[in-house]
Amino acid sequence: MIPAFNARSNDFASYIAADNVIGGRVVKPSGSETHDVVNPRHGKAMSTVTFGTAVDVDTAVKNAEKAFADWSTWPIRERAQILYKARDIMLRDVEELAWLVSHENGKSYGEAKAEVLKGIECLEYGCSLPNLAANESLEVSRGVTCEMRYEPMGVVAGVTPFNFPFMVPLWMLPQALVGGNAFILKPSEVVPLSALKIAAIFQEAGLPDGILNIVQGGQEVVEALCDHPDIKAFGFVGSTRVAKLVYGRASTSGKRALALGGAKNHLIVVPDADVELTTENVVASFSGCAGQRCMAASVLIAVGEVDHIIDAVAAKTQKMVLGEHMGPVITQAAVERITRYIDEAEKGGATVLVDGRGAAGPTDGYWVGPTLLDHVTPDMPAGCEEIFGPVLSIVRVDTLEQAFSIENGNPYGNAAAIYTTSGHVAKVAMERTSAGMCGVNIGVPVPREPFGFGGWNDSKFGHGNITGWDGFRFWTRPRKVTSKWALQKDWNWMA
Ligand code: NAD
Repeated sequence: MIPAFNARSNDFASYIAADNVIGGRVVKPSGSETHDVVNPRHGKAMSTVTFGTAVDVDTAVKNAEKAFADWSTWPIRERAQILYKARDIMLRDVEELAWLVSHENGKSYGEAKAEVLKGIECLEYGCSLPNLAANESLEVSRGVTCEMRYEPMGVVAGVTPFNFPFMVPLWMLPQALVGGNAFILKPSEVVPLSALKIAAIFQEAGLPDGILNIVQGGQEVVEALCDHPDIKAFGFVGSTRVAKLVYGRASTSGKRALALGGAKNHLIVVPDADVELTTENVVASFSGCAGQRCMAASVLIAVGEVDHIIDAVAAKTQKMVLGEHMGPVITQAAVERITRYIDEAEKGGATVLVDGRGAAGPTDGYWVGPTLLDHVTPDMPAGCEEIFGPVLSIVRVDTLEQAFSIENGNPYGNAAAIYTTSGHVAKVAMERTSAGMCGVNIGVPVPREPFGFGGWNDSKFGHGNITGWDGFRFWTRPRKVTSKWALQKDWNWMA
């Protein structure tokens, strides 16, 4: 369907135009708006994306409906077989996929490969669904049996962000496809290429044409997906501002909707924390993927006398080499936004312990160095807003009670973590923090499969989680079948 991406290093490489995939064919989006797909490491266009329109959404829905009629009749085990094959192809092509993600998103090759492997892990969960979805059945009274079936919704849609171009689509596709739906995916216009590769892999694996469609674009396409009367469920992952908008819009049009939003994740460090473990983990948690993770650490709440740990974190951060330990951020606008947050914090009285402003990387792309801000207050923008860059804001408090109050007071609720050697302190923190995904001595507590991914508060709109069993429940609807049969007098007719 599309050619292989041949780059195997950070050297600049161009790739095909990012078009739509509808009905198993690559087709030009119908809009006139085009955007460069810029490799953030080099600040240079590696491809072009043409935006689709509401017309493309409607064409995709029609193709999907046609394909759904047959696909939805396949036994779930046969649908899962496609995922097994897709997994084999992804493992065969893991180098290509990792380099593609690295080029379009900017994350390092190692981070990109980890993303691809995590995406494959999500697919493996999908492979296990036929076993997990075995029907529950009970004789509820004499001769009467009640049975639960998970049936497809029909045509469903997903919209994904720029920061995990391969993995986030795979948060949705395994459950939705094994559940028997036909899918329309709108990837981020900033990173539209990995989604094309996913579509090509599923096609090679034998997924019938029309079951996975890609429509490129921006707001118009997303709104058309929210509004289309024949799309039955809508999944979204992105910023809180947009998550709130699309959750409302898709729900108003009668769809089942789940929208994951942004985050401001707090790490609480207490004096008895293990210095080495905490230092390593804190630095990796705020600087991994250049801080562009919805699970990235953003605020460190230093409880009491923990200067020895902050000094070690600062020393380790200072030694980081751009291009080696951390990749670029996604755009020049991101560089400016992140720099503005640091400037404002400094003006507001914060101390810049490690300053990433103006840092030069090894290439001409969009670089910001890892940054540590001390004496930030929770009401400063750097203390309460999502920066989405490699910046850690340190807030000083005297007691754990104050730490919980700051963490609880933030509107988001994706992740929270505590660093301690005390089981009791860890237990209390896991009871008192207000986040859907919590860590003990782990700053990026991503629940691995089969545990579902999803935050609380302003980090998620809708019920349930996007991955795991909740994901399967989201993309399917339960049918309860209650049966009673007249007694067969001649019931030995098989003999
Ligand atoms: P974004 O919200 O700007 O874009 C996400 C998607 O929404 C894209 O496909 C984009 O085209 C579309 N979109 C943008 N503006 C829109 C509008 N006005 N109307 C309709 N659609 C619109 O997010 P991003 O910058 O691509 O990604 C970063 C954000 O995603 C961060 O806030 C991060 O925390 C969040 N994120 C959250 C999770 C999670 O699981 N909670 C995971 C990854 C990323």
